[in-house]
Amino acid sequence: PSASDPQLSTSDKAVATPKANGSQNSPAKVESWSPSSWTTKPIKQNAIYEDHNKVAKSLAKLERLPPIVTPTEIINLKASLRDVALGKAFLLQGGDCAELFDYCEENVIESKIKLLLQMSLVLIWGASKPIVRIARMAGQYAKPRSSPTEMVNGKEISSFRGDILNGNALDERLLDPSRLVDAYFHSATTLNYIRASISSGLADLHRPLDWGLGHVQDPELQMKYSKTVESITDSLKFMRTVGADTASKALETVELYTSHEGLLLPYEQSLTRLLRDPALPGATAPTEHKSWYDTSAHFVWVGDRTRQIDGAHIEFFRGIENPLGVKIGPTTASSDLLALLRALNPSREVGKITLITRYGASKVRRLLPEHIRTVEQSEYARTVVWQCDPMHGNTRSTSTGIKTRQFSDIFSELQEVMAIHKEEGSYLGGVHLELTGDAVTECTGGSEGLGEDDLSLNYTTFCDPRLNEKQALELAFLIAASITL
Ligand code: PEP
Ligand code: MN
Repeated sequence: PSASDPQLSTSDKAVATPKANGSQNSPAKVESWSPSSWTTKPIKQNAIYEDHNKVAKSLAKLERLPPIVTPTEIINLKASLRDVALGKAFLLQGGDCAELFDYCEENVIESKIKLLLQMSLVLIWGASKPIVRIARMAGQYAKPRSSPTEMVNGKEISSFRGDILNGNALDERLLDPSRLVDAYFHSATTLNYIRASISSGLADLHRPLDWGLGHVQDPELQMKYSKTVESITDSLKFMRTVGADTASKALETVELYTSHEGLLLPYEQSLTRLLRDPALPGATAPTEHKSWYDTSAHFVWVGDRTRQIDGAHIEFFRGIENPLGVKIGPTTASSDLLALLRALNPSREVGKITLITRYGASKVRRLLPEHIRTVEQSEYARTVVWQCDPMHGNTRSTSTGIKTRQFSDIFSELQEVMAIHKEEGSYLGGVHLELTGDAVTECTGGSEGLGEDDLSLNYTTFCDPRLNEKQALELAFLIAASITL
């Protein structure tokens, strides 16, 4: 038998013991689940490599490498998401659709962290609640595709499936197993620079932030946004003056977690480890109990195309301790919704599951209320984080075939979602955005007034169109203003 058989991989040897209180992992789940049990299930978006020996070598290498994130961090995020589920905090998640290895670069990383930080300040101001920040970064390298091939210059070639699988260049479309290990190192290097920048004061709010609102042409909007910034700046100044900042570290640093779609299961499996649970707050002795942690990122989600209830991805996801996202949309049956929650969170941990809703502005009013009622009138009431992804239901093509999204559609879906949650008595816990800190021209609209003719100016995404830094910040201002209503 070859070691490329994921069933035989080394991370599969240890067997978890049921928790003493039995509340987190039911014995049935522990008996039947293993990091490779997904291999017995039907799989969508599967990666079929030519050279199995090379795959085995890459996976063996990954299994030896240290965790990228730790159980303590994962559990801390889960505790924060519990607050979000309970309506005590708000979740901001954002980053590229397809993160490229080339984005592992000082300026690209910094501009994205700064943008997420600024957006979170605006949201704190608007929501008067703590903001939990998760970057779609340091591992967002695998993409599900609607078609395995595409036509280029009259020739049918394999689609680009993300840097962890193949390259976008036309001569790099063959799946390359060495990219699995490359992904690990780019992920670790990106996270290293995120951690280093934050601990060196990139997020130090004692420093003035450059808000760059010069592009806002509408004088009324310019005034509104400037007022918000002024108010944020004044609050920070006040805290410094009264010494609130020396009493706590809150102004010097922020928490920023990482996330990606858990699409490529051999990669996720290799980084899934049986590790000691962190001690509970107030505990006098370290815990002996171990759980399975996917150490590739703090938060992983299952995409709209791979969330089949009997499929490989749900099988893998149900066994890990990490907080999980599930994309849901127009094709999600309400009965599937409960089946998913029961499979992924049998013990009904609050905040364990984030439902990332993505319907499109024109469909959300018809579809979201029933999904909310299904969950909130079940035994899962008040356990999930409801997060709005206003991007993926609003993708369209221009008449010349460019994939884009309109800023007004994105905000319109968000507004509808806020209104619907209010009507249903549920809590919109967060937003999930595709954005970049750079001045790209991929989505139309916003205060710069980007039109379809402008898309060609700086259209650099290899997958879905992202909000540029100005559009993303503007969306944060708009959300903040709507939340305070
Ligand atoms: C994505 O988040 O980039 C994505 C592919 O989304 P979805 O699974 O919702 O289509
Ligand atoms: Mn996308």
